[in-house]
Amino acid sequence: MRISQDIYLVGSGKLGFDWTHEADCNCYLIHTGAGALLIDSGTGLSVDQICRNISDCGFGLHEISHIMLTHLHADHSGGAAELKRRTGAKVAVLAEGAAILEAGDGAEIDLPQAVTAGFYPEDYRWNPCSVELPLHHGDTLLIGDYTFKVMHTPGHSSYDTCFYMEGKRRAPVLISGDTVMYGGRISMLNTHDFRLDRLAASMEQLAELQPEILLPGHGQPALSRAAEHVLKAHHIFSSLGIPQNIA
Ligand SMILES: [Zn+2]
Repeated sequence: MRISQDIYLVGSGKLGFDWTHEADCNCYLIHTGAGALLIDSGTGLSVDQICRNISDCGFGLHEISHIMLTHLHADHSGGAAELKRRTGAKVAVLAEGAAILEAGDGAEIDLPQAVTAGFYPEDYRWNPCSVELPLHHGDTLLIGDYTFKVMHTPGHSSYDTCFYMEGKRRAPVLISGDTVMYGGRISMLNTHDFRLDRLAASMEQLAELQPEILLPGHGQPALSRAAEHVLKAHHIFSSLGIPQNIA
């Protein structure tokens, strides 16, 4: 589904467009001018459908050069191993969390609790995935026509990463994962590494950007005036409040 000039949605669960597996995050395909990259991989329970959706957007699987993960939660990273196998893409994730993904250590992402809570099927397996491109806060990746600034934005979890995408011929895009969503909402979880104070500090960091487009991990994207959504959350935090939760 094309949502902007070179941005496509190829996966989305119940908190979004209820299109692929119900637990899937939003998965975006971005045509970079030198192939395409995938933002987040979903749970891994709808890989066939996500691959069909990629084809329907006019891309061959081998055109995908990178799978960039916003964080380790299984609804974002669970499909990475299988999608990498099918595409040959490099997997990029924040360096500090790479070993957890490579080991498939579900305890580090509260997976047993999430299965018990019914977010994933009882027999769900989080597949380990090797990481070819460990990312660091402040890195700028040049991929095709665009630069992607890597920002470590912890709070929702320890290893949340936002990407700020800029290019000469397009408005700036904030790929925000589960750090901030449409309407300035956040994703607050009773998990071992959710930290409201860290999330507020991350929002302050994001509030300095001027994105026009917001691609969040769940819910609807914003195709204009994206900065307003970030500033709303930042303003609520600055007023000692807590932004509305998506769940
Ligand atoms: Zn998450």
